Amino acid sequence: MTAALKIEPIPAFSDNYIWLLHDDTNAVVVDPGDAQVVLAALSKRNLSLQSILITHHHFDHVGGIAALTEATHCEVWGPTNPKITPVTHRVKEGDTLQVLGEPMHVLEVPGHTLDHIAYLGEGVLFCGDTLFAGGCGRVFEGTHPMMRSSLAKLRGLDPETKVYCAHEYTIANLQFALAADPHNATLAERMQLCSSLRERNIPTVPSLLADEIATNPFLRWDAPSVVENLAAASRLKSPQSDDVFAGLRQWKDTF
Ligand SMILES: [Zn+2]
Repeated sequence: MTAALKIEPIPAFSDNYIWLLHDDTNAVVVDPGDAQVVLAALSKRNLSLQSILITHHHFDHVGGIAALTEATHCEVWGPTNPKITPVTHRVKEGDTLQVLGEPMHVLEVPGHTLDHIAYLGEGVLFCGDTLFAGGCGRVFEGTHPMMRSSLAKLRGLDPETKVYCAHEYTIANLQFALAADPHNATLAERMQLCSSLRERNIPTVPSLLADEIATNPFLRWDAPSVVENLAAASRLKSPQSDDVFAGLRQWKDTF
């Protein structure tokens, strides 16, 4: 992304972030679950909404589309799932769109939902509820191997990529991460840093993909420390990557 483009979080509901991209004149928002907070943010900065990007069909990501398109007549980019409306441009893996003059590539990352997509710009990833800071989304519609494969796709991106996820779940995620990977010193440092940010009510996101690879157990299905600890907790069916991932995800579901 060019330095002229700003990216800011708009807090929504109890723990969602709606990402606002703008160049001080025109704006794009990602996953506007609530129209009112977006309209207020646009008005405060005197911005004109050009486009909405949608990652998946859950209400807290799409609930504001209708009111925003009515108010601004903006374009809406989203998955091929016909349940999401109104969408002016339906996109799939390999498609590229222009966001305020910057190319953004579409990645299909099913697992949390079957329709989930992510948007990859230069050095920035908008990944909805697939990859979180320190964690990943629940597997609601897909399978564990499907979700692991989607996360493997994200793990393969440039480690310097900034990860813009849609929720402030970081502290709870890192609490689980410390149980899953208790001897990871980098993870312990990350928990300290993020706790200090949250005490001051500062967002812990975006995070850096390199830090996720070093500390997020859901990107570490092949790390010996994670595999050994899962076995010690009697939660490992086999050391095969999909079984490690499934063991971690099922453990987190009841943590
Ligand atoms: Zn969701």
